[in-house]
Amino acid sequence: MRTPLIAGNWKLHKTVPEALELVKALKNQVAEVKDVEIVVGPAFTALYPVTEAIRGSNIAVAAQNCYPENTGAYTGEVSPLMLKDAGCKYVIIGHSERRQIFKESDEFINAKIKAALGEDLHVIFCIGETLEEREAEKTWDILKTQLQNGLDGITREDLKKIVVAYEPVWAIGTGKTATGDQAQEAHAYIRGQLKEIFGQQSAEDMRILYGGSVKPDNVDGLMSRSDIDGTLVGGASLKAADFARIVKFQAG
Ligand code: PEP
Repeated sequence: MRTPLIAGNWKLHKTVPEALELVKALKNQVAEVKDVEIVVGPAFTALYPVTEAIRGSNIAVAAQNCYPENTGAYTGEVSPLMLKDAGCKYVIIGHSERRQIFKESDEFINAKIKAALGEDLHVIFCIGETLEEREAEKTWDILKTQLQNGLDGITREDLKKIVVAYEPVWAIGTGKTATGDQAQEAHAYIRGQLKEIFGQQSAEDMRILYGGSVKPDNVDGLMSRSDIDGTLVGGASLKAADFARIVKFQAG
């Protein structure tokens, strides 16, 4: 059985006081939730205060990015060692906004994943096709390449600390969610590829999240699908009540 994981990506939102207000409200609203792993992803400046605020609760913290070195002359960067030190359990790597805006390559993403695992962080590894790629019927090739390159050199043991997030780029922040059928089809494909690389058991154990305009009113349908093990949520994670409702999804 795969434990569902509901993660929020706060992106470039929330000052420290705002982040604390949000996480404290969320903490109250999800206090009774069991059997779902809950993760929030504040900006770097709010990581430490948020990890302090959730101490002892059922919420864990993710950073939204990291650099693949622990120390050195890399002005402006933040390392896996620093994230661990700030109290993070997870780090989001390979988000499409980083791939597109900051031109991150599969190789760079792979280096970050390895560096994060080296500090015992868990990784939410994002993959997904753009609208042009989907329309050109390249979705499966793109997902296969991103998986193979991003997970190059990763062992089955490492894999236990990695969660894949399938985020079709055309569904992120657009209000356009993949249908349950589209998402399930992609998740089943991803699990099939993981099986090719890591074998049946590892693929079955692996959690695959869906991300892309997940909201309180569409989460139940998505979470009812057999290969969807959780969600990565952007916009709707910025309101405690909406995110709490997503955490409390009802899978049919
Ligand atoms: C995301 O940023 O990973 C995301 C899925 O955003 P949204 O839910 O706003 O589409």
